[in-house]
Amino acid sequence: MLTRQVVVQSKSLDEVASLVLRKQEMLASIPAIQPIPNEDLTQTAGGFGWRIHPIHKIQKFHAGMDFTCKQGTPIHSTGDGRVVYSEYGTNGYGMHVIVDHGFGYQTLYAHLSKLQVRNGQRVKRGDVLGLVGNTGLSVGPHLHYEVHRNNEAVDPANYYFNDLSPAEYVRMLELSRNAGQALD
Ligand SMILES: [Zn+2]
Repeated sequence: MLTRQVVVQSKSLDEVASLVLRKQEMLASIPAIQPIPNEDLTQTAGGFGWRIHPIHKIQKFHAGMDFTCKQGTPIHSTGDGRVVYSEYGTNGYGMHVIVDHGFGYQTLYAHLSKLQVRNGQRVKRGDVLGLVGNTGLSVGPHLHYEVHRNNEAVDPANYYFNDLSPAEYVRMLELSRNAGQALD
């Protein structure tokens, strides 16, 4: 009986070990930093939710977060993954990159001035994907950043946990909720 118990236990330890490895991969993959670090921002970010559209001037759902910064600022992948789109789109996003992180997560980086990754390329968290620009439906140089979970846009503000202290996090949430107009 003891032998059986030991066998069962070592089997479940194997499972735990593989779960831990999977967990580490998941932690590296899930978006967890800002695509543009705070020191590169020239203005606060416009947040996720219903906003006045800068061009159409009507209430529109803003499915991402806008980071205002200088043209040419490097944009970083927010988690490990694989580039599944890196082209000039016709859907208003202009030049944009989509990274598939696995575990149901994708991130989208829009209005770039330059693409620095190609389709199929594997990227690590922090790798530069391209440079900030003003391509597509955009009213000034900025990064429009989206996080998708199981094909649904979610609030990127909930995915910066590696970067911020609790106080900074609270401030960032306030900023993202107060922004009146998005840059799209
Ligand atoms: Zn936007």
